[in-house]
Amino acid sequence: MSEVTEREGAAGTESEALATLHRVFGYDAFRGEQEAIIEHVVAGGDAVVLMPTGGGKSLCYQIPAMVRPGTGVVVSPLIALMQDQVDALRALGVRAGFMNSTQDFHERRTVEAEFLAGELDVIYLAPERLRLDSTLDLLSRGKISVFAIDEAHCVAQWGHDFRPEYRALSVLGERWPDVPRIALTATATHATHQEITQSLGMPRARHFVASFDRPNIQYRIVPKAEPKKQLLTFLKQEHEGDAGIVYCLSRKSVEATAEFLSRNGIEAVPYHAGLDAGTRAAHQSRFLREEGLVVCATIAFGMGIDKPDVRFVAHLDLPKSVEGYYQETGRAGRDGLASTAWMAYGLQDVVQQRKLINMGEGDEAFRRRASSHLDSMLALCETAQCRRAQLLTYFGQEASAACGNCDTCLTPPETWDGTVAAQKILSTVVRLDRERRQKFGAGQIIDILLGKRSAKVIQFDHDQLSVFGIGEELTENEWRGVVRQLLAQGLVAVEGEFGTLVLTEESGSVLGREREVRLRKEAPKPAASRSGSGSGSGSRERKAKTVAADLPAELLPVFEALRAWRGAQAKENGVPAYVIFHDATLREIALQRPTSLGQLGTLGGVGEKKLATWGPGVLEVLAGLDGGGSVERVPEFDPGPEPDFGPEPEPEDVDW
Ligand code: ADP
Ligand code: ZN
Repeated sequence: MSEVTEREGAAGTESEALATLHRVFGYDAFRGEQEAIIEHVVAGGDAVVLMPTGGGKSLCYQIPAMVRPGTGVVVSPLIALMQDQVDALRALGVRAGFMNSTQDFHERRTVEAEFLAGELDVIYLAPERLRLDSTLDLLSRGKISVFAIDEAHCVAQWGHDFRPEYRALSVLGERWPDVPRIALTATATHATHQEITQSLGMPRARHFVASFDRPNIQYRIVPKAEPKKQLLTFLKQEHEGDAGIVYCLSRKSVEATAEFLSRNGIEAVPYHAGLDAGTRAAHQSRFLREEGLVVCATIAFGMGIDKPDVRFVAHLDLPKSVEGYYQETGRAGRDGLASTAWMAYGLQDVVQQRKLINMGEGDEAFRRRASSHLDSMLALCETAQCRRAQLLTYFGQEASAACGNCDTCLTPPETWDGTVAAQKILSTVVRLDRERRQKFGAGQIIDILLGKRSAKVIQFDHDQLSVFGIGEELTENEWRGVVRQLLAQGLVAVEGEFGTLVLTEESGSVLGREREVRLRKEAPKPAASRSGSGSGSGSRERKAKTVAADLPAELLPVFEALRAWRGAQAKENGVPAYVIFHDATLREIALQRPTSLGQLGTLGGVGEKKLATWGPGVLEVLAGLDGGGSVERVPEFDPGPEPDFGPEPEPEDVDW
């Protein structure tokens, strides 16, 4: 860029950034703080940006990279995703490239030459490559517009995803004091935020902290009974044909769940650290490229996955912290369309997590930290208040009292006076503790209260206890709910490797009738959902309903035709479908039914390059449809054969 245009660029910052937003990305307006951030960086300032997943962080560095003279250098740890990121930018007409270890000599030389010739708007690099003298020398010989440090929380030593290579990035400010830097993350405790600023050496940065609220995600936590079957029902009723992630704690249950779903008509693949790198890469690539694939995974999966149309994230096991839960569920609905964060949670989760903490390695301080993380997670599960409000408060942000889009808002749980029930459990714990011969878990206590003469009850003469059979007013499931809630409230605790129930300091006040115990009633049915289930319509119609949320029924065939066309193009070009158009754009197209390229170009997500590449194809699809068409009916949902439930995960089987 010449001197003159460079100055013009600086003077007309806002309009040039906005013009780029329109022309390249096809969007009308900036969202939230995007404009302020971009303006600040384009003008040469440093920025630290905390914004939730889906908030639109990428534009915050991509637009400055295009508007300022030179190439924007994006530092990202996600080598496996760089090719996709670059493909997505190229589809928009952005001159993008990457340098990493997956390239051969020739490919790398080409990118280097393009960079030196000033022919790249954006270049992606991994931090370990940036550290090399050869890379630093190369960068010194070209012109850099901005440094973007993505996933910046990786620099935080005490964070949950520390990467030592990130430490070396402080060199950027020393070596290129005049090039603005922008650090971005979606994971943002106060401590991590401070460490990012310090470690990257950004004392003069402006800080942009967005609300963590993800209004399009519906949060639901259901009592766990038969998790795989519950999951299947949830998917069949609300997310048939949708892409999503199912998180499980252990590799074994990941495998079993993927197999179970596939057997029941929902295509699913496993992903965990025990699979070889090739299989993992293949499954990740399928998830990004295919529509409607489900990945069953341990937490080894998900960071940096920028697939916009993940419609649900399900948890079959309790995450270890609210941070983890927020991050994992945050992968749903980047495109802003309605999505669900669904979790099945039960007594066994609490007992197991406590056991893992008790038996795990690590010192007392580590255990205390893990314990307090678990307590916060349990509080979220057991709350009778709005889940979203509780989440936001956890992150220190303001929240309204009720969001209207979580299970507790949609179906407010009833509470009941569980004092007597609690006393019955605690008295049984006291009696069993007196025996001292053997330790007993929740199962034995519930059998005793219900008056069940199980083999183990007979073996230890527990039918002789005065508490035997005094709890017949509740079902086994309800008793499990009571124990779970007592555990969450700290009124009873778990000890040792067998999950023995023991009293806590607080238990006395319940036994002594000094306090009332309020408990949540177990919901008999899962909460009603916004996306509308069980309406009696076919599953195909339901699928379209979720994806195209509020489209009128007569437009669903249009939307589906566009989706089919997009799928074929994606396959032919070897790119993920969303690289062509997002679901939100297809929905717009179905609603507006443009008849000319001019009209099509005004729709959100249709920039110059995409209009030229795909516009004629879209118009052809629309022209080929009749006035509306009829919705194809398919048979009602059949849950299929009885599912089988896998064994409990072994601790060594868990991806930490
Ligand atoms: P993040 O990196 O913060 O998770 P992305 O940058 O991937 O989020 O953006 C999330 C989604 O929002 C993407 O699909 C993106 O195209 C879209 N998006 C971003 N900014 C805008 C905007 N100003 N208008 C419309 N859509 C936007
Ligand atoms: Zn709510």
